[in-house]
Amino acid sequence: MTITYNKIRTRIHLDRITSNYRLLCKIGGAVIPVIKADAYGHGLVQVARVLAQAGAETFAVGTVEEGVKLRLSGCAGRIVSLLGPLDGEEYDALFDQNIIPFVGGFAQLEEIHRRSEQWGRPLPVSLKFDTGMARLGFVRDDLGVLLERLKALPGVKPVMASSHLATADDPEGGEFVREQGGIFDEALAALAEAGFKVEANLANSAGILAHKTLHHQSQRAGIALYGCNPFLGTDLAELGRGLKPAMEVRTPVVAVHPLKKGVSISYGRTFKAPTDMTVAIVAVGYADAYSRGLSNKGAMLVHGRRAPILGRVCMQLTAVDVTGLPEVKPGDLVHLLGGEGETITPEELAGWWGTITYEVFCLLGLNRREYV
Ligand SMILES: *Cc1c(COP(=O)(O)O)cnc(C)c1O
Repeated sequence: MTITYNKIRTRIHLDRITSNYRLLCKIGGAVIPVIKADAYGHGLVQVARVLAQAGAETFAVGTVEEGVKLRLSGCAGRIVSLLGPLDGEEYDALFDQNIIPFVGGFAQLEEIHRRSEQWGRPLPVSLKFDTGMARLGFVRDDLGVLLERLKALPGVKPVMASSHLATADDPEGGEFVREQGGIFDEALAALAEAGFKVEANLANSAGILAHKTLHHQSQRAGIALYGCNPFLGTDLAELGRGLKPAMEVRTPVVAVHPLKKGVSISYGRTFKAPTDMTVAIVAVGYADAYSRGLSNKGAMLVHGRRAPILGRVCMQLTAVDVTGLPEVKPGDLVHLLGGEGETITPEELAGWWGTITYEVFCLLGLNRREYV
């Protein structure tokens, strides 16, 4: 899905994603790029392609459908679906397109076994354990029955075991991380004892950077791949040094005009000029997935200088303060994210927006992308 009714361009620096991947591999060894949700808005196929060139052999997508799309794009690597099969059609697609699903429920095991008889071969799966997220996965109390069912269902072939950390990016969350690691270790030990040889992975980006004792045969990296340091602004910030944000978003100025002292701007008159000002009206709004929550909060870069947002963000237009920047004219490109020299960082934009970098990327990535 792409927003095509606007002038915004989301520029993706693929070389930075490659560089982030290499950096993460140095720390985490075998790193599985997480490219779910269209690679966090950076482009599923494009990101997978450059990472395959950089040596990645396994890719983690969200839905099975996304896995199929990646396979049909020519990806020859291992594809893992983090959401796993959600309906009948998806079960067949796993066999047909050779996709390894996360499987965290007994009904899924039975269904995979049933289909494997039709396909005439077992399906490699990743056993998903819930060690503390309480979303999906087998829990500790399931272990006994799980091993019993796996032995009875040869159509299910566990090749991987996975779990997901809830607090890895919280410098205060170490205790819960270790607790999850311990429960995961129990599951791995039970699998090994029952004779199942699996590739284990637990760490996400923050886990790769901060919890080396929880590294297993592979790790799964998402946000750091796109250049965000999960520890920015904390005592652990040094751990993510060298990561480079890969997304840059630009849009043109539509008009520039004076705003006299005392005059209001935009819906609801939430901003009134305290002195004579100059404003630029920029071609972006909430219809372009640029949040209305940025009203009177955010800033853009105009000619490399910070221009604060004035008044409410509208559906397709936003006003910024360009007082003291007389050279601004319609057609000039403004940075909503990124920039040369001075930059709007993903963390800063997410802060104004009241969200996290993940959401900023997923949303701004819905706009038309260009690759450099
Ligand atoms: C999204 C996701 C990841 C990646 O997490 P980051 O914090 O972006 O590194 C890893 N594992 C699972 C299961 C996920 O859903």
